[in-house]
Amino acid sequence: MKKFSKWYKRVVCILVISSLICSVSNVTEVAAETSEPFKDVVMETTLKSLARIFRQMKEDTAKDAEEVQKPEITVQPEVTQEPAVTAQPEGTPEPGVTTQPEGTPEPGVTMQPEGTQEPGATTQPEGTQEPAVTTQPEETQEPVVTPEPTATPEPVVTPEPTARPTAAPVVDKTPIKISVRKKGKDKFVISWQKRKSAGQYKLWQKKQGAKKWKEIKTTKKINYSVKIKPGRYYKYKVTAIYGKKKVIGRSETITACIPGDTKGISYKRIASRKISISWIKGKGAKKFIVYRKLPDGDFKKVTTVNKANYKDLKVAIGKKYVYKIIPVYENDKVKIYGSNTYIGVLLRDEVDTELQNYSYKELGKDINALKKLYGSRFNYNIIGQSADERNIYEIIIGNQDSGQAILVVAELHAREYMTSQLCMKQIEYYLQNYNEEIGGVKVSDVLRRIAIHYVPMANPDGAAISQYGFSAIRNTSLRKKLLKMPGAGNPSLWKANARGVDLNKNYPYEYVARQGRRGSQGYTGPKKCSEPETIAIINLVNKLKKSVTIRGEINYHATGSIIFGDYEGPLKKAITDMYELACNITGYASSTGYSGDNKSVGNLREFVMYKKNLPSITLEIGTKPCPLPVSEFKEIWKKNKDLILLEANLLAGE
Ligand SMILES: [Zn+2]
Repeated sequence: MKKFSKWYKRVVCILVISSLICSVSNVTEVAAETSEPFKDVVMETTLKSLARIFRQMKEDTAKDAEEVQKPEITVQPEVTQEPAVTAQPEGTPEPGVTTQPEGTPEPGVTMQPEGTQEPGATTQPEGTQEPAVTTQPEETQEPVVTPEPTATPEPVVTPEPTARPTAAPVVDKTPIKISVRKKGKDKFVISWQKRKSAGQYKLWQKKQGAKKWKEIKTTKKINYSVKIKPGRYYKYKVTAIYGKKKVIGRSETITACIPGDTKGISYKRIASRKISISWIKGKGAKKFIVYRKLPDGDFKKVTTVNKANYKDLKVAIGKKYVYKIIPVYENDKVKIYGSNTYIGVLLRDEVDTELQNYSYKELGKDINALKKLYGSRFNYNIIGQSADERNIYEIIIGNQDSGQAILVVAELHAREYMTSQLCMKQIEYYLQNYNEEIGGVKVSDVLRRIAIHYVPMANPDGAAISQYGFSAIRNTSLRKKLLKMPGAGNPSLWKANARGVDLNKNYPYEYVARQGRRGSQGYTGPKKCSEPETIAIINLVNKLKKSVTIRGEINYHATGSIIFGDYEGPLKKAITDMYELACNITGYASSTGYSGDNKSVGNLREFVMYKKNLPSITLEIGTKPCPLPVSEFKEIWKKNKDLILLEANLLAGE
């Protein structure tokens, strides 16, 4: 309104003056006829007024012009900014922003480490990467500066018209996650996180012992397979490359290794059912996964161990196991398995029950083996020596401090050597199943209450003769004499010892000296207890009687599958109990009416019962003639495996 009134005044003023001039000229024309000087005065005055008015108008206009410019800018801010984007000629160089020609190296801007720097760690200085993102808006605010917008010849050709605002990609500064997995025996597949705006990735590797990182691949993909050497450590990292400026993002670093092969695997039996498997650690193996498989099963994971050793403390005997060891390299980011290694394990019994000649040598070997396997649960003593200097062993299982004992004597007769094998097998069986039940009783419970003393081979020289003939007798004098004795023609049927004395007729009960002739059987000896084997057993009985209560004695003989339990006297009940139990277990025949007629001379069982006042029974194992063929062992074993333990259980009481 103010502005309007100002102009209005001026226009009115000009109109007034103009009319004045007109009128003056008319007057002048009139005056020309009348008065010339008056005409001049009027004109001058009028012109001066006009000049003043125009001067004033000019000043006012200039003044107004200044005022008008301000509102023009403030009123239309969006309109003036708009051109910044749209007026921008497509493809026209925009200083500082798009000068970078595609693919052209730009030395000053490229932050590429190019093998000399650590890509992850030294990605361009934080500051330089900022401008690409933040300076853009500022520069586009000055569109007015852009020269000759219309000069651009072919704006349509320019690709990606909409790309401009997003030309500077968003750099994800969080480190890219990498993973490594094994492929085949000697390859890694390295994978990494995708970054939305990243155009390419560079994969870097640093080998074990290397000082520098090496760029091994530039790719648009997010994984890469690389061949490596097992047992060596490799580090990987990835740099994501963003945009044309090659802005580089960081990644995490990962260390990986395919564990080297496991070598030299072997196992050692550390106890009956316990084994220790050892191997040589391959390089890079940090731990091992142990699997186990039975013949009819699948591999099952057993455990994970850090050392190159695994102890399996519960291995069944006679079953084949296969163990699989898998080396593992592991850190907080990767877990890589190496090649599997296998070992088969079959624990066999120490006592060989498929051997026909279970010999003195075999006995010695088994004693050593069982001692090694069972330690304090297996003890033995040498209670005497035979004429040909073979040891007479006493083996003890069970608690020797229990105050109770049971005595088992086998192989008094040479050719009955399967009884030695049977006893040794029983010992092994009871110890193998120490924590298990046999025949309904817990082995450890029985052996806690009573000790079982075995004399598994009471006549070792005789066994040697029966098994190998007289050449097995090392003492020349003994051998020469033996060769002249009755029965020398068939040594395998030998019953006596190496001096031709029947040891089951040499005990001091109902003894008759010099009955029969030195030879394969029946000779009672020059006097009672003439033989070292006899003395050894008597001494053992006496020794045991001094320290503990011998609850019973059992003799193993062969053959006939019969049990002797006949007795009349104060031990009747105890003997009958032992006898009936044995009959029940073995199913062997009763001896009733078997021995009737001839009174025995110097018999061990009778000596034990009548002289030592101990309950005793005698079992004759087998059905075939002696020496029993090993093929009969299985049947004998079935009938006798539980016998001694259950007799011990019976005799031990509660
Ligand atoms: Zn016999």
